[in-house]
Amino acid sequence: MPTPAPGGPDEGLSFTDREILTTATHPDFRAWLARVRHIGGCQHPVHLIGHTLTVDAATGRLVHAFTSAEQPHGRLTIACGNRRQSRCEPCARLHQGDTYQLVVSGLAGGKGVPDTVRSHPRVFVTFTAPSFGPVHRRTAEEPCRPSRGRRGLVCPHGRPLWCLDRHSPGDPLTGSPICPDCYDYPAAVLWNAHTRDLWQRLHRNLYEAIATARGISRNAARNTVRVAYAKVAEYQRRGSVHFHAVMRFDGPTPDTPPPAWATLALLIQTIRTATRRVHLAVSGLDTILRFGAQLDIRPILPGHHGDDLTERAVASYIAKYVTKPDVAGITVDRPIRDAITISVLPVTDHARTLIRTCWTLGIRPEHKTLNLRRWAHQLGYRGHIASKSRAYSTTYTALRAAREQHRRDHNQEDAHDTTADALTDKHWTYAGTGHTTGQAMFADAIADDLQAARDAAHDARLSVDTPQGETQ
Ligand SMILES: [Zn+2]
Ligand SMILES: [Zn+2]
Ligand SMILES: [Zn+2]
Repeated sequence: MPTPAPGGPDEGLSFTDREILTTATHPDFRAWLARVRHIGGCQHPVHLIGHTLTVDAATGRLVHAFTSAEQPHGRLTIACGNRRQSRCEPCARLHQGDTYQLVVSGLAGGKGVPDTVRSHPRVFVTFTAPSFGPVHRRTAEEPCRPSRGRRGLVCPHGRPLWCLDRHSPGDPLTGSPICPDCYDYPAAVLWNAHTRDLWQRLHRNLYEAIATARGISRNAARNTVRVAYAKVAEYQRRGSVHFHAVMRFDGPTPDTPPPAWATLALLIQTIRTATRRVHLAVSGLDTILRFGAQLDIRPILPGHHGDDLTERAVASYIAKYVTKPDVAGITVDRPIRDAITISVLPVTDHARTLIRTCWTLGIRPEHKTLNLRRWAHQLGYRGHIASKSRAYSTTYTALRAAREQHRRDHNQEDAHDTTADALTDKHWTYAGTGHTTGQAMFADAIADDLQAARDAAHDARLSVDTPQGETQ
């Protein structure tokens, strides 16, 4: 931290004040502010140096030049785009908003999805993980594991199989095994790592189940009815991933209705049958991986309220998870680089053992493709928290492009012509990341402003959408 010169103009100012002053008096300040607004007040932006030149292929004439030299501070600043709230709040909020739009448009229409989807059978499903051994449960009224019928029963390691405690939500024991030595840690980690394959099997089974129920071939089933979905992964306290999914019957395309026989009852029956039939043998593991027996399926009815799920409630529920995938004490928000750090991670002993199991199994040749060390911080779970079938609704890319277009229209900017005969020369290099202390304060204020504007727009939309007498 530089010390102010005695008698200088900033003598007596605090470090923070000086930082703000330095930022605000820079000649590029206004242009920089506009750029930070453009990137939504991102907390950890990436800086690039370089150019994009567009040249007419026929004449060699320079059609358009974009260079970092003309940008504030001589560099192009772009948003980090991180989806985790713990890493960049403004970028995560944008992603959360996009997820909400993505889910709600598949239920209520909009963003290129016809609103006739509201009349298709739709359900909200929770797919659970199987048991890998008894764990302490969060209970308010009754003991965790009543002794009834268990008194005197001990596991092979001599530990009692009952627990008379009542565990609060914050109790680190909640979700931890009754006996860590009995708990099937390899199966628990490999379940998380294989959820993608399990889901693919489930999806295939859906058409098998429809075919069986209708007495037709699987291909015939696929050609008449489709199951579109959007899903999100969530960690249970015991560190196993489970899924919440919106599933919808369509005709062969989203804008065609499913056949009359593809009812809500058939959708529910199909999901039950398909889930029960999923099994996956993994080399080096005695346990066959399956979904948990507990399967919760609830219809989503248009414009319904009370105990039933409304379209917006479901979309909000799913969007809530995508930016907060980490459960305090269970997962951490960035990859683990070496084994030594595992012992100091702020997680429960149970989670630490799951992470260590990833580390140990990670070097086994039979699990090489799972990249378990790379995903140890997510307890073996790989990839994105939210995903969807192509037909369900729009895409993140389309939502981002629409936002960019809207911004251009609003600012009356020209998107320069990129014709078929134009040649583009792009050359960009990484030139650092982040804000200075002073810049960070302005960026935070911008992010807050933008969020307040979005909240206001959201509230206004809700009051228009909500018919009289209906509650959200
Ligand atoms: Zn960001
Ligand atoms: Zn207990
Ligand atoms: Zn035991």
